[in-house]
Amino acid sequence: LGFGVYQIEPENAAEVIGTALEAGFRHIDTAEMYQNEQQVGEAVKNSGINRSQIHITSKLNNGHHEPEAARRAFAETLEKLGDDYIDLFIIHWPLPTKYDGDFVQTWNTLLEFKKEGRARSVGVSNFQVSHLQKLMDETGEKPSVNQIELHPYFQNREVVQFCQDNGIAIEAWSPIAQGDVLEDAALQSIADAHGKSAAQVTLRWHIQHGFIIFPKSSTPERIAENFDIFDFELSPDEMSAIDALDKGEAGRNGPNPDTFDMIPA
Ligand code: NAD
Repeated sequence: LGFGVYQIEPENAAEVIGTALEAGFRHIDTAEMYQNEQQVGEAVKNSGINRSQIHITSKLNNGHHEPEAARRAFAETLEKLGDDYIDLFIIHWPLPTKYDGDFVQTWNTLLEFKKEGRARSVGVSNFQVSHLQKLMDETGEKPSVNQIELHPYFQNREVVQFCQDNGIAIEAWSPIAQGDVLEDAALQSIADAHGKSAAQVTLRWHIQHGFIIFPKSSTPERIAENFDIFDFELSPDEMSAIDALDKGEAGRNGPNPDTFDMIPA
């Protein structure tokens, strides 16, 4: 269970992340795209918590897929974090319609960072089955994680199954669908039965499925609430009821990785 920092403005980020660390979070998910890597580094240093107790992830932005650019971007990420290593570094999007679809060159560059010990572990985000298969076929090296959109309304089952079959850990982004699932009657009734909130039940459902999650919030009460999910357990029937909320492709909120091609100016 980690803390996501997408859409946390750089002005507030160090304080908000400090609040999350105080609440107990020890895993932070940032990205160059979020423009708050520096504040992640500051918050970790200001917390007084030993760096080795904290797991930090960042992501290679879409403009840096070519090897030289990726090396520069990774060095900048470490500099912004104020560290000589990162726990996990991942390719943010596969961009199969850009760079001649050559995300394998990008993956090979991330493998260099791992070899050098500057990235403890490397992985990918938003990779579809065909993209993962290509990486594994051409390099023989599987990513440690695939970070994908995944929540009760979009359970991304084909990608999840492939990752589980191949020992690739699933990280579920937008675990509460940016709040969209919270009014759901089925989730509400399960929440009432446990004296928990719909957000807590949804996060707990992810954890019981073995997914890695990092809900985002800037509100101290919600940050504490999202951490407080280890004193109850969903029954098999409750898990199945939430599994049944999947809307398939119609439940996807974010871009489709097969066509997403945004490269920042
Ligand atoms: P999320 O599902 O975590 O939802 C966040 C929103 O839900 C917040 O704006 C907040 O207002 C609300 N919220 C949070 N806790 C709540 C609570 N207890 N009760 C009521 N409302 C609550 O969405 P997200 O931020 O999109 O995803 C989480 C993290 O995943 C991001 O911060 C980022 O680190 C990562 N992410 C990665 C990608 C990617 O392409 N790899 C894309 C999106 C997000």
